[in-house]
Amino acid sequence: MLVVMKAQATPEQIQAVCEHIEQLGFRPHPLPGAQRTAIGITGNKGAFDRGDLEALSGVAEVIRVSKPYKLASRDVKEEDTVIRFAGTDATIGGRGLTIVAGPCSIESRQQAFEIAELVAATGAQFFRGGAFKPRTSPYAFQGMGLEALRIMAEIRSRFGLRIVTEAIDNESLELVAEWADVVQIGARNMQNFSLLKRAGKLRKPVLIKRGLSATLDEFLMAAEYVMSEGNYEVILCERGVRTFADHTRNTLDLSIIPAVRRLSHLPILVDPSHGTGRRDSVLPMSRAAVASGADGVMVEVHNHPEVALSDGPQSIYPDQFARMMDELEQIAPVVGRTLPRGVKVLSS
Ligand code: PEP
Ligand code: MN
Repeated sequence: MLVVMKAQATPEQIQAVCEHIEQLGFRPHPLPGAQRTAIGITGNKGAFDRGDLEALSGVAEVIRVSKPYKLASRDVKEEDTVIRFAGTDATIGGRGLTIVAGPCSIESRQQAFEIAELVAATGAQFFRGGAFKPRTSPYAFQGMGLEALRIMAEIRSRFGLRIVTEAIDNESLELVAEWADVVQIGARNMQNFSLLKRAGKLRKPVLIKRGLSATLDEFLMAAEYVMSEGNYEVILCERGVRTFADHTRNTLDLSIIPAVRRLSHLPILVDPSHGTGRRDSVLPMSRAAVASGADGVMVEVHNHPEVALSDGPQSIYPDQFARMMDELEQIAPVVGRTLPRGVKVLSS
């Protein structure tokens, strides 16, 4: 259910409606919009009796949301969600495209700093780097853990880059939430419902990568899990799904971009690195991602990919990253976007 408040409803009236919903045993989710505030109602206590909600002052109407995802739905919030990062001009989901770049894994302080310096100089606003790696083989490099988080915090102070890194379980979630700016939930955890609920208790943006075989509904329901716990700053990321095609590591499903944008107000990024697994495919698919309406891209960049501890073959060289930025800058205005270069840190 959704309570749509009148455009002129006061904060006190919104508060009173929220309290009323709580008294009925449900959870209110006030979602301010440009024109008016909507209040989503969730809870698993059975059928909702709209009672006298419609009679409360400031209420315009009470409507049923028929989609399985509620808070993630555009029915509940018409405007695109824009995620901001305090003290900087960086955004995810606004008119400006979001570029997240960095190595698959943090391998050493030197490696991370060298790559960060290069991507910052080219104008990325976000730096990625795995500290906790979900690897197919237990014998493969598992990540540097806390040490990597510390290195990335130093990178943030030095270059202004905001940090995106993955949490793979409850323990790493706590650490990542403490050190990073965006908490990534990887493809393999997209349906780890207890982890999603915990991420929903954070007050930090959560980036959810599409599961290897996830449908659009399942993808949006993963976002709904996080939002149902009160964290509305969710970013979706298409990273390819498994198909019979074997010319790429995964099949990058760009057709999900317009579908997500139609159904949800949440921002969606594209990861053409995992989506293709091939360095030579990353630039073309980045261009296609922006052309298809994505809010930005996340790409793996490495200065020595031939000796990378993970995902070397899909990591682009810094000069390719620079070319990618130039190309995306040219495509951006065609789709009504801009490509901001560099983070302005307004205060720390
Ligand atoms: C990653 O971004 O490093 C990663 C492991 O991605 P995914 O979960 O999409 O495989
Ligand atoms: Mn990787």
